[in-house]
Amino acid sequence: MTIVVLRELRKEMSQDFGPGTAVSFIKAVHAAPADSDVSGDPDDRTFCGKPTLDMERVNYQPSGPSAPWLPPNMSDWECRDCADVLRSL
Ligand SMILES: [Zn+2]
Repeated sequence: MTIVVLRELRKEMSQDFGPGTAVSFIKAVHAAPADSDVSGDPDDRTFCGKPTLDMERVNYQPSGPSAPWLPPNMSDWECRDCADVLRSL
């Protein structure tokens, strides 16, 4: 099954760069099933049920069934719910 890795960004106002400056941080990294109609696009919802609309796509595909589903440098932000679903697939 093809999955699409997505990152959920947290928008916060930074005190340092003046009012109104939104700084994006990664909030969590999710996975969504790839849309069967539009190749390469994620489904409407992630495996944990969040809308994918505001999420940013991560250009990553696991190299095999035993490979981690998200890039190793993003493992700190792994969504536990998505990980649980992916493990049970
Ligand atoms: Zn998730």
